Amino acid sequence: MSPIPPPPSVTARTRPPRSFAAFDPTTVDDLDDAALDELPFGVVCLARDGLILRYNLAEGRLARLDPSTVVGRNFFTDVAPCANTEDFHGRFRALAEGTTGGTSVRFSYVFDFRFGAQNVDVEIVRAPGAPRLYLLINRRQFLPERTGPEAREPAPRQSDLVADEAARGILRNRYAERVLSTPVVLFELLANAFDKQSAAQWRTIAHDWGLAAGRRLVIELETAGDDEIPLGDRPMREVVELVSDLLRDQGWGVVTFDLAESARGVLRLEVESSALVARPGRHGRRCHLLAGMLEGVLNHLAQRRLHVEELSCACTTGRPCEMIVVGESRRELAIRLAAEGRSFDDVVATLEAGRADESGG
Ligand SMILES: [Zn+2]
Repeated sequence: MSPIPPPPSVTARTRPPRSFAAFDPTTVDDLDDAALDELPFGVVCLARDGLILRYNLAEGRLARLDPSTVVGRNFFTDVAPCANTEDFHGRFRALAEGTTGGTSVRFSYVFDFRFGAQNVDVEIVRAPGAPRLYLLINRRQFLPERTGPEAREPAPRQSDLVADEAARGILRNRYAERVLSTPVVLFELLANAFDKQSAAQWRTIAHDWGLAAGRRLVIELETAGDDEIPLGDRPMREVVELVSDLLRDQGWGVVTFDLAESARGVLRLEVESSALVARPGRHGRRCHLLAGMLEGVLNHLAQRRLHVEELSCACTTGRPCEMIVVGESRRELAIRLAAEGRSFDDVVATLEAGRADESGG
């Protein structure tokens, strides 16, 4: 049997660009909000007077402020008073007013928050032909809160910015992201509604939904703030553990990555106690959303397109859900074989036979 190239090995990857070092800053103004939210470093767009126009997901998590509540405020006076210095605001003003050469300036800085200080690299970029500037912010080091004479006025907490949110039915996690406390059966109800309206499209929609959620999950992993090592610089076993721990802590179940078949160009995933299997004893596969999420994360780790498909689901088998990871070129075949209810070994054998057919002519 010939192996299936290209293997979806998540070990042979280049470093994912968590810092903006590998990012072309002249393109930032062309990105829509969804694209800004997929960048693993902080991005803040300011008017020339310092008014916040855009604020991406990574910056929100790292500053523990909800982007939707900081837009429209003044960055230097309301949101980041620690940046209201000659070193930071002075450079910003000079670039905004065009009194300095070039279209960007890069420097190191220390941000003060009440939950700790952060050593950052900042690049201020003037948007070409538009009256706005972008701050690109890469965290180099997380430090304890500074209390000495070197400490600047710390940034406000979310609860300082907007009071009494809980009383208005707004729940937040420790990164100030708004969250919802709801029974997981909500997902089953959604799936049931699709079964009635558009059963044929449910797999595709749930998978796409998951893929978008997986890209956010990557930002969550990159901005967890426990230390400053990017995912791409960590050993794969550790990264896989981080992914598994995050999903477990969020209540999705326990995902196990089986790398044993990676030499054959596939990976096997197992999901125990999937949150999407509200009650066993049903037919079909219920975890397309989770498969999409895992695909979003694995795409980032591998730095190329992979596909994750659920082969068998706990709702039918009573055993942990089983998923397969294949390269992009095997996507359609894997989807078809999974829909036929084939086993993991059967799918791998068919993929390999297909490859042999192709190469044999
Ligand atoms: Zn399942």
